[in-house]
Amino acid sequence: MEKPAICGGTPVRSTKIFYGHQYIDDEDIQAVVEVLKSDYLTCGPKIGELEQKLCEITGAKYAVVCSNGTAALHMACQAAGVQPGDEVITTPITFAASANCALYCGATPVFADINKETYNIDPAAVEALTTEKTKAVVAVDFTGQSVELDRLLSHCREHDLVLIEDGAHVIGTSYNGQKNGSIADMTTLSFHPVKTVTGGEGGAVLTNNEEYYQKLLLYRAHGITRDESLMEHEPDGPWYYEQIALGMNYRMTDMQAALLISQLNKLPLFSARRKEIVKKYNEAFSKLPQLFVQKEIPQSDTTRHLYILRIRPERLSIDRKQFFEALAAENICCNVHYIPTYYFPYYEKLGYKRGICPNAEKLYEEEISLPLYYAMTDQDVNDVIDAVTKIAEYYGI
Ligand SMILES: *Cc1c(COP(=O)(O)O)cnc(C)c1O
Repeated sequence: MEKPAICGGTPVRSTKIFYGHQYIDDEDIQAVVEVLKSDYLTCGPKIGELEQKLCEITGAKYAVVCSNGTAALHMACQAAGVQPGDEVITTPITFAASANCALYCGATPVFADINKETYNIDPAAVEALTTEKTKAVVAVDFTGQSVELDRLLSHCREHDLVLIEDGAHVIGTSYNGQKNGSIADMTTLSFHPVKTVTGGEGGAVLTNNEEYYQKLLLYRAHGITRDESLMEHEPDGPWYYEQIALGMNYRMTDMQAALLISQLNKLPLFSARRKEIVKKYNEAFSKLPQLFVQKEIPQSDTTRHLYILRIRPERLSIDRKQFFEALAAENICCNVHYIPTYYFPYYEKLGYKRGICPNAEKLYEEEISLPLYYAMTDQDVNDVIDAVTKIAEYYGI
């Protein structure tokens, strides 16, 4: 049996491969340069163009682009009317922003456990945790696989809750043949460089609801309006505007919007390549008894943002940390998504205790995020597969 690099063998590759990386081509660069030479660096024509494009891609009626995915979540909670005293149910297996957005509004995040096999929020747990105080559900399409939208939506309708889909991983995915972004009450996106398409930073909220749309426009820009029909006073003159709500400055620049428009032209390519890599990983890893492959639900056509390698500790003589370090020694740089949100000291100080979501906690003990991005070559993919196979077999019991 071949020796892993961590105990003196030869690494599968001599250069490091990262777990995620953006793909920027000359068209992207040209698109940004053109904005820099134009009259508008922010609040210009690229914003509307991008919003239009996002509506076309996702089937949503309205899109409001903003500075990042966290801002999108904050605005969505505000538009949903989340306020002090309310509870917002979310998953712990996500980036902290999915729960922080409730705190920004003075509400209390409530953590629902995940499904053991799909790793997405378990609708049964959401149902069990719903109280009189629940105002909204922030459901994360973890890795890009859609949450069970039909069951979550019918629960939310029954209890008058707002369903916010944190779709930071989901662009390019559909659920029961309908594009994610046009199904939940609001869907948020992130355009951070590790996500499927990037604007450097950037985010968006998608909705079919005109009332939410109008609120999102206000919250994005200080709560200020130039729409006379919304004003309380007679305009003093053509310069006049009014602040009618407490908003933020969550605007996106035109440079970011131009980059994103150019990136979105490549979304079909990006999605296809990610799916291809996931298929290769799944084929290779489903043959290894030391590993568990994430379950795919038939309703979701999945463009993966992340690939989760899950070890079966009972079949290995090493733990997740040692597996992670062994991969690093092979020059395969990985990551872990995610540390359960309530493990963080900030949440501990708010009173959250470990043990509340056992499935999430077990996943965290056993998972590693493998490299997955458009620009990976076939050689890169094979190297990852070879390294994982070598380590799993060498330490298998
Ligand atoms: C990336 C991410 C966010 C935050 O997006 P930013 O654009 O980095 O603010 C929120 N939720 C999830 C699930 C994410 O992956």
